[in-house]
Amino acid sequence: MTMVEAGGLPYDRPPLSKDYLLGAQTLEQIQFQPREWFAENRVTLIEAEAVSVEANAQPTVRLSNGDAVAADRIVLATGGSARKLPVPGGELAEVLKLRTRADADRLRDSCGAGAAAACSGRWAGAGPTSSSRPRHASNWTAPSGSSR
Ligand SMILES: Cc1cc2nc3c(=O)[nH]c(=O)nc-3n(C[C@H](O)[C@H](O)[C@H](O)COP(=O)(O)OP(=O)(O)OC[C@H]3O[C@@H](n4cnc5c(N)ncnc54)[C@H](O)[C@@H]3O)c2cc1C
Repeated sequence: MTMVEAGGLPYDRPPLSKDYLLGAQTLEQIQFQPREWFAENRVTLIEAEAVSVEANAQPTVRLSNGDAVAADRIVLATGGSARKLPVPGGELAEVLKLRTRADADRLRDSCGAGAAAACSGRWAGAGPTSSSRPRHASNWTAPSGSSR
């Protein structure tokens, strides 16, 4: 099996808004498996972005690094991405999203510097609101006005 993963070693996301954000878990602790597990279990991990899939006689995934991976079966499991806050100012650098480890690092660094933060969303937003307050930020709110 070949796994194409743009973000490096796969990790569990729920801790990003909880113990990882608080510094109670490390990246190694939230990774599903250590790197050696993949070789031991005959899983080839390619750390690149899949940019297209060609459904020819031999289905092929084209990667951002120029490589191509041919396969008998292809599973698309690319997850979701954070929406931008749909209000004026939502594009400001101070408005942070929380989807990846890098996002969690950025959020933790910002809060560590004493910044106020607003979390938008449902479950992912509820995590940092409850677990980080009051240790990291003095002014957390969790607007969740979307019907989605
Ligand atoms: C902060 C946070 C907190 C959460 N808390 C909870 C919780 O408490 N309870 C709960 O049930 N769920 C929670 N979730 C949701 C849960 O962790 C999963 O994210 C969700 O279930 C979706 O999983 P997934 O595997 O479909 O997608 P993802 O977890 O998003 O994984 C998709 C993967 O595909 C990769 N990828 C995307 N595009 C490409 C591409 N073109 N090429 C290569 N790789 C690509 C990404 O790098 C990513 O690693 C939380 C999510 C977040 C972000």
